[in-house]
Amino acid sequence: MENETAWKNYDERDMACLDELCDRYKTFISACKTERECCAWSIMEAEGLGYQSLAAAIASGRTLAPGDKVWATSQGKALVLVHVGQRPLEEGMNILGAHIDSPRLDLKQNPLYEKDGLALLDTHYYGGIKKYQWVALPLALHGVVAKKDGTVQDICIGEDADDPVFCVTDLLPHLGQKQMEKKGSEVVEGEDLDVLCGNRPAAEAAPDAADTSADTSADAAPAASAAAKDPVKQYVLALLEEKYGITEADFLSAELEVVPAGAARDLGFDRSMVLGYGQDDRVCAYTSLVAQLALARHEEVPDKTAVCVLVDKEEIGSVGASGMESLFFENTIAEVMELAGEGGMLKMRRALAASAMLSSDVSAGVDPAYGGVFESKNSAYLGRGLVFNKYTGARGKSGSNDARAEYLARIRRVMEDAGVSFQTAELGRVDAGGGGTIAFIPARYGMDVIDSGVPVLSMHSPWEATSKADIFEAYKGYKAFLRGM
Ligand code: MN
Ligand code: MN
Repeated sequence: MENETAWKNYDERDMACLDELCDRYKTFISACKTERECCAWSIMEAEGLGYQSLAAAIASGRTLAPGDKVWATSQGKALVLVHVGQRPLEEGMNILGAHIDSPRLDLKQNPLYEKDGLALLDTHYYGGIKKYQWVALPLALHGVVAKKDGTVQDICIGEDADDPVFCVTDLLPHLGQKQMEKKGSEVVEGEDLDVLCGNRPAAEAAPDAADTSADTSADAAPAASAAAKDPVKQYVLALLEEKYGITEADFLSAELEVVPAGAARDLGFDRSMVLGYGQDDRVCAYTSLVAQLALARHEEVPDKTAVCVLVDKEEIGSVGASGMESLFFENTIAEVMELAGEGGMLKMRRALAASAMLSSDVSAGVDPAYGGVFESKNSAYLGRGLVFNKYTGARGKSGSNDARAEYLARIRRVMEDAGVSFQTAELGRVDAGGGGTIAFIPARYGMDVIDSGVPVLSMHSPWEATSKADIFEAYKGYKAFLRGM
């Protein structure tokens, strides 16, 4: 059997909804290029629709009743939104999950150096990237610098039209003969992904002024000699101090992410697609968020409690306090159940086991340029709607969640009843490669979990491509799941 394109089902009203959703989506992914930015944006949107801080509810001893809405975050990098439903939580929740971290270059802790009159920032890449794709592109710097005094400085450079940008340089073809003979994984080495950030030296101090300072101040002498040794680096540091009040040592307690600079754009003559950074997995995170918030927007109290969980660290194995492997999600549900008068470990275990989840992550869309890695009748196509992956994994489904058939049957019914275009897929041909998602982690509770998401072209590249039809169908599908499971 073959699925048809979703595009031909749309009337004028559908097209208006699709365009509005995708315009807001482009704004979101253009502004939110780190997990912290995604979290902060989502909390702001949720609070605008009546969500309250779970921490504040706990502190004030508030109880939660059907219709109440709370948010909780782990380290400002993972987020859980809970919209309490009419039925007891013990009977199970409907959960949407996605990740908000994306492949990128992270600055090292001690990143800044000068060589050959150029100032550079050393990086360690994050997630699975083809390193050769990250050279000769305009790059932006997003993140935070935490200072010893407890303040945290937000940094975002390279997104405004007036901002400077950064780049990783590449070798000219004229001298690239040896480089071009290398394997793809070695054409650009990870240690060479250094970000160019300066060329202008600090002004030299007048000789007699330097003498004077050497006589009168113990601090001025090393600064003067550092400026003489690395004047370009020193000028960069002087600018950072002036503009952000940060010193070189403050890089030690910073999280600075180097990402492609610039906004997401419409792709194609027909504007049917989106080209943007970090669509893995912010395309699923955004559509999940908007579906969760649609209940509040329409002042609905869902039958079962609706939950949206947006996590960090998926691209490096879901580890850490803000990854799906942490107890943050479980702890949050425990707190919510306590405030809802359903406290206790056993009730929480029952609630988790009785829940249903869509673990949403992007799927590899069939790319005609690389048809050989796909098996055509079990692959995802751009424009054919929300993708369900019964299993993912690699080499004999290894590491896969493998949703049960009965759950898939329920999903099919809910999606068909809501008029959602959907397709089913695996990640490429058998033994072509593979990949994992967060699905297997919540499945440990015994809940039904299935991978779903939006197909993407050029996944993990600086500029990923999606179809607006699939974004729209994902949103519709997630909404139907929260209302109908
Ligand atoms: Mn992903
Ligand atoms: Mn990924």
